[in-house]
Amino acid sequence: MAGYGEATLPPYLPDTRETVLEFLQQVQADQLIVTDPQVLHAYLHSLRPESLPAIAAIDIAWHDLQGKLEAKGVHQLYELNGTSEAPGMFTIGISNHNEIQEKVAEAGEIPVLKIKTGNGMDKAIVETIRRFTGKPIALDANQSWKKDVNSLKLLHWLNKQNILFVEQPFHKNENDLGTIYKDSPVPIIADESFQTIEDLDLVTGQFHGINIKLMKCGGIYPAIQIIKAARKRGLRILIGCMSESSCGCAAASQLIALADWYDLDGPLLLRNDPFKGLNYLKGRINIPSGPGTGVLPVGIFQGNASAI
Ligand code: MG
Repeated sequence: MAGYGEATLPPYLPDTRETVLEFLQQVQADQLIVTDPQVLHAYLHSLRPESLPAIAAIDIAWHDLQGKLEAKGVHQLYELNGTSEAPGMFTIGISNHNEIQEKVAEAGEIPVLKIKTGNGMDKAIVETIRRFTGKPIALDANQSWKKDVNSLKLLHWLNKQNILFVEQPFHKNENDLGTIYKDSPVPIIADESFQTIEDLDLVTGQFHGINIKLMKCGGIYPAIQIIKAARKRGLRILIGCMSESSCGCAAASQLIALADWYDLDGPLLLRNDPFKGLNYLKGRINIPSGPGTGVLPVGIFQGNASAI
């Protein structure tokens, strides 16, 4: 029996393919034969605590195997529901006018558009989308806004445009958002400003919610610890991904019952997804019914697939 995991590498973390492989070579297989994920993480952190994508890869594989051994989905190991009321999202990258029209059409029946800005064109992009659809929009500004008097004006304008939330409007080191946090009519979500549970103090009172990604925090177990602690602080929860295949996104999908929103369409943006078993219906994830994370390798790995 095998458990499968995956590491992808957020560009703002120091990890590289080499550091992940070095980490994996250090791991002693017999140390992974434990039944408590806290013990597993104590061991992994004793090797090199900053290697969070590599730790996430082992965490995902461990959970996959643990689920298979108990004939349960990972969400069942944590007594979580296998469903979520959160709407599906369709991602539109930074696009020109014609591409936006095409992408809006391509989204079909998927209820929410997630747009990635970053070029100071937020208002123009939203105005263009509104010529074609009134669907709710999740806006990821990717640290592109300058914090000034116009920020609140823009947030108030966006609030009239059926915007669900604005993700990471300012630079990740901009930690003084108290006034904007208080006055913004739209929830502001931390992505680059939030990585691990240690960052909760930094974002509380500055953001309305956090984007949790397995690669940032080190996997399923730490993500659950973050969600529990974040809820006590009244933070909203978005579960996101980097460029994971169905392997990493199936792992993250096990937690969607705990989230207000999820953005796990990484596999849909891959040409060579090396795993199968994760399905989407109108952008919503059906948590795979199989044990563990519920996905399996397709058998033939092609090209530079991101799975390890
Ligand atoms: Mg983001």
